[in-house]
Amino acid sequence: MEVILTGTGSPLPDANRAGPSTLVKANDIHILVDAGRGVVMRMAGADTLPLFLRAVLITHLHSDHICDLNDVITTHWIMSRGNAPLAIYGPPGIKEFVARQLHALEADIGYRIEHHDALTHGPKVDVVELAPGESFELDDVFVSTAATVHAPVRPTLGYRIEHESASVALVGDTIPCEGVDDLAASADAYVQTVIRRDLVELSPNPMLQDILDYHSDVEQAAQTAARAGVKKLVLTHMVPAPSKEQYPEWVALARKHFDGDVILGDDLTAFSI
Ligand SMILES: [Zn+2]
Ligand SMILES: [Zn+2]
Repeated sequence: MEVILTGTGSPLPDANRAGPSTLVKANDIHILVDAGRGVVMRMAGADTLPLFLRAVLITHLHSDHICDLNDVITTHWIMSRGNAPLAIYGPPGIKEFVARQLHALEADIGYRIEHHDALTHGPKVDVVELAPGESFELDDVFVSTAATVHAPVRPTLGYRIEHESASVALVGDTIPCEGVDDLAASADAYVQTVIRRDLVELSPNPMLQDILDYHSDVEQAAQTAARAGVKKLVLTHMVPAPSKEQYPEWVALARKHFDGDVILGDDLTAFSI
């Protein structure tokens, strides 16, 4: 499998980091986890397009993780000429969110159907609401879920994707919890959204202080990685976004608890497992 960090940013606008999303390629099965700001642009940079997605997996309904889902839906619809359904999985609430997105796009959908003979109907979406612990198969790819903890955002899901002998756990915003431990157990890679507690604590902005109690910091992610026995710890959704010169500081924090590979980088950082 190949894992590509299509968006390593956070809600904080950044000229160089798209919002949170990660792409997993298991041969020709492409799976997108979350759909943050700029995701379709970064997918193009990762040599794929919404048309080639087998599924979109959503971790939770915070806007930074879903704000460009409408672009994924519309681009998939146009490029498939309306022929293929887009499969979207997520926690309860995702059906309503997608339905309202389609409602918001109603004028556009109408204009395009009127203008293009090839389009006779709006986007087809197959939206599946998942409960923690559910699992499903996409051909020879196995996907399982577990609950994560990001209160007051409820429910939130993490995913584990397995193909042949490779496995990757991808969790969204969460504090360390049993669900993450289960998903990451002995995985080849564990992708975690993280914050730098030591830096966020210095901020005079009370809204930034608020994020401390519902995210994993770098050391907590490293502790989870060590406990779960993963091979690679992958940091994304980094707050505050580091410059290249600061990457070693992030790795050093993780190294206090985890001696496997630590991966972080710019958008489109990729690795194979
Ligand atoms: Zn987030
Ligand atoms: Zn969140």
